[in-house]
Amino acid sequence: MPVGAKSAWYTVFMLSRVGVVAVQGDYERHILALRAAADGPLEVVEARVPEHLDGLDGVILPGGESTTVGLLLRRYGLGEALVEFAASGRPMWGTCMGMILMAKDIERGRPDQYRLGVLDVTVRRNAFGAQVHSFEDEVPVRGLSEPVLGVFIRAPVVVRYGPGVEVLSEYEGQIVAVRQGNRIGTSFHPELTHDARFHRLFLGL
Ligand code: GLN
Repeated sequence: MPVGAKSAWYTVFMLSRVGVVAVQGDYERHILALRAAADGPLEVVEARVPEHLDGLDGVILPGGESTTVGLLLRRYGLGEALVEFAASGRPMWGTCMGMILMAKDIERGRPDQYRLGVLDVTVRRNAFGAQVHSFEDEVPVRGLSEPVLGVFIRAPVVVRYGPGVEVLSEYEGQIVAVRQGNRIGTSFHPELTHDARFHRLFLGL
């Protein structure tokens, strides 16, 4: 994005204490990306148990394996705490697995796959098929003037969304980023690129 350009969501009020759910997956990359994106003081917390969410003003659910992490979120009570966190109106962003965990419904999941149900969407897991496990391509994002590099790793897509949900990105006719209020889900992984714009958008929510 050219210097000085501002996206529609960018505000002068930035989140200052952000948690990253650190049970499994690529949470360390989110922590680095948040630090790189922050304009001012930012505390980043690895969230593993419910108490770790205390005092946070935003939380990220990273990529990983949604069945495994779902089980652990349920076991340690962190899932319930995340549902309360979202209900309090504080920002939440899920990348890939994170979006699957936030979704209301999951296609191709385990029959009783655990989810938070805080994003009114149905996601289809591993939607790009076995042949295309992983790929990268440019993806346009609503609110950003230039496309981002979308890194897709056994990525889900959104196949249904409710009335309160705004589509932020489509790639080859598939929905790959959504926003419902200050909850965001992306199929791809901005934390695996050197582009801080998405993390900056999140910090500006
Ligand atoms: N396919 C994984 C799942 O269903 C998600 C992959 C990812 O987060 N990169 O949990």
